[in-house]
Amino acid sequence: MVWAGILVVGNEILDGVVLDTNSNWLALRLKALGIRLKEVMVVRDDVDEIAKALRRMLEDDCKLVITSGGLGPTYDDKTLEGVAKALGLELRLNEEALRMVERQYRMFYERGVVSSPEITEPRRKMAILPEGAEPLENRVGAAPGVLLRVGDTTIVSLPGVPGELKWIFDNVVSKLVEDMGEGFLEETIIELPSADESALASHLEEVMRRVPGVYVKTMPKLERGFRIWVSARAPSREEACRMVERASKLLMEAIESS
Ligand code: ATP
Ligand code: MG
Repeated sequence: MVWAGILVVGNEILDGVVLDTNSNWLALRLKALGIRLKEVMVVRDDVDEIAKALRRMLEDDCKLVITSGGLGPTYDDKTLEGVAKALGLELRLNEEALRMVERQYRMFYERGVVSSPEITEPRRKMAILPEGAEPLENRVGAAPGVLLRVGDTTIVSLPGVPGELKWIFDNVVSKLVEDMGEGFLEETIIELPSADESALASHLEEVMRRVPGVYVKTMPKLERGFRIWVSARAPSREEACRMVERASKLLMEAIESS
């Protein structure tokens, strides 16, 4: 049995300026993977506070800790410093992470989002990781996610911007942690002859909220239309089956009525 913890970092959350939706979204995803969440902590952008919270989660036997926020280019983005401090690791420039940051800024420059592709000191900061850590692809924003495995503990750091956090989790992290999950997995595939994927997105999120533990993902078909993969994990096979059936029914109703 694996316990997980979520560590949310950001003054804006504790000052009431931003509502923390990332921990709720991650909680639903972890549940769908069969990983049990033990605790969620929210701390300020402060190296010592981040390190203390992370150490507490590791002492609490969390084998997976996901951090949210504080990976950006500015001086107040301190999550990786906190992670390194908690584990007594040095911070070092990671070449693979640097290539990812360079690629993203080249793309932003070509799209006219930034005025120069140059890797300035603040941009380079996003490639400075705790020693032994691996960068995780971020195709939405600039800061790579970060994976750090220490003994039997996995620490995953994700950016705070919800679109980036979700993209990295669904496209990279879920595969890395799926074998930590327990329970029975049931799944089904729904074929749709044609649909607009952007219109489906809100239905998928809604179904995952209404049937916690269910995971729904669209897979475009080569020719036309979509396949929607609906899966659930639960302590018994029967329960997982019921969850998949209920989610599939809700999804079809939502699609038919839209
Ligand atoms: P960036 O590269 O944009 O600086 P970051 O990893 O440093 O990313 P933060 O600076 O912590 O992330 O947050 C960026 C923005 O993302 C915040 O201003 C806020 O709008 C949003 N955000 C941060 N944390 C959360 C959260 N827990 N839930 C919802 N939104 C969040
Ligand atoms: Mg930031």
